[in-house]
Amino acid sequence: MENKFAKRTQLIKSSETREILKVTERPEVISFAGGLPAPELFPVEAIKDVCNAVLNEEGAASLQYSTTEGYIPLRKAIGGMMKDIGINSTIDNVLITSGSQQAIDLTGRLFIDEGDTIICESPTYLAAINVFKSYNAKFVEVDMDDEGMVMEELEKKLQEHPTTKFIYTIPDFQNPTGRTLKLERRKRMIELANQYDVLIIEDNPYGAIRFAGEELPPVKHFDTESRVIYLSTFSKTFAPGLRLGWICADESFIEKYVALKQIADLHTDSFAQRIAARYLELFHIEEHIHNIKVVYKERCAIMLSCIEEFFPENISYSKPEGGLFIWVELPPGLDAAHIFSECLRNNVACVPGTPFFPNGTEKNTLRLNYSNMSKEKIREGIKRMGEVLHHELEK
Ligand code: PMP
Repeated sequence: MENKFAKRTQLIKSSETREILKVTERPEVISFAGGLPAPELFPVEAIKDVCNAVLNEEGAASLQYSTTEGYIPLRKAIGGMMKDIGINSTIDNVLITSGSQQAIDLTGRLFIDEGDTIICESPTYLAAINVFKSYNAKFVEVDMDDEGMVMEELEKKLQEHPTTKFIYTIPDFQNPTGRTLKLERRKRMIELANQYDVLIIEDNPYGAIRFAGEELPPVKHFDTESRVIYLSTFSKTFAPGLRLGWICADESFIEKYVALKQIADLHTDSFAQRIAARYLELFHIEEHIHNIKVVYKERCAIMLSCIEEFFPENISYSKPEGGLFIWVELPPGLDAAHIFSECLRNNVACVPGTPFFPNGTEKNTLRLNYSNMSKEKIREGIKRMGEVLHHELEK
């Protein structure tokens, strides 16, 4: 039956990381592999109350088909959240999506013709790579340092690839590196996008989870030509299982996105949208996010101090001010895939960094997640990883 599949399916592979995650789901494994929020922080009791309120007061409407653009009170509430971070928008600038993953997919459908060039950070979010690859994009990677994408490199790449469609960037606590784009670079990115006439896709699922350092305005805050399409989600601040994300962009883009979303799934889950809207009305999400930050700050600090204590000296790693991930660079010559297998034999899991480089052969990086394990497990897991690393370096 192989010959029955459409040719484009040859571009789609099951994500290696998803395969890894399956292995790491064994209960005895201490896993730093996924990107899962801490489930004990999900507001389960509040959501019970909210579900009752929605069903009692809106009953059938919450179970009915609804508009593609999304539930108006939720779009209004998101408009308010956008304003709080320095993005002016009206309800017509907001489209609710089934997670921001759908927003990334719709972005691929909307902008990428076969062979189009897109620019991204090196490394970048794996599931976005897989989406854009499925539309047959060519990736141009731009180097990062501790302060995010390097703007001189970006300019060079824009000169070399003048027909680039868009820059895909995750400026805050990037997945996979945990790095944040510094303020001057945000302004410079806009200047370059204007000068070279490219769009920017600003993917920001983690911005609200800042637990150290100064708040920074999103890249879109500096956008004077409506060329930034901003994506975000309730996955890290509320509940990923509800699959609620959004796009905030110029109306002309939103209209096109709406037409594509109609083809994809008609609309985002009506009940989930009402749950979120009602939660935002009845509870203080800032307090909930504050609790998340307190826990992640502590877990991140413990992971960093254990890395310092247990990992060999000639290893470098990012020091995130928010989000969920730490990025580890191993000495050249160490193969992260081998380290991963050795760690797994000791019941500890991480993600090898290679798949996060769209064109790449970088083999000596690892991504570690700290949001989903207790302090004790973080200490034990990093200790075990340290033993593996020391052992491999002594070989
Ligand atoms: N973008 C980035 C950078 C992510 O890390 C994630 C989730 N891991 C997503 C988008 C997708 O988030 P969701 O679909 O849950 O909203």
